[in-house]
Amino acid sequence: MTSNRSHTPEECSEFQQQLPEFFETGGNLLEHPHLKTCETCSSLVRDLEYIAAQAKLLLPIHDPSPAVWENIHNALAKEPRSGNKNS
Ligand SMILES: [Zn+2]
Repeated sequence: MTSNRSHTPEECSEFQQQLPEFFETGGNLLEHPHLKTCETCSSLVRDLEYIAAQAKLLLPIHDPSPAVWENIHNALAKEPRSGNKNS
């Protein structure tokens, strides 16, 4: 009958997995329909944009590298690293 236009966790997960691609293309991320219906992901994107901007300031290179996203993921996770590696 009526289509419930609410987002599902699966949609959020799928959207968030696409985030790196959106950032790399530098395109229509803010025009993504999911952001217009999901405050959670909208807030997440703002945080990511801020972190990405900081990362660009720190990196002397212009080309985005996987390492950038690795740093972003680490920043988001904020998992305290316990234990030292003895090499
Ligand atoms: Zn969402």
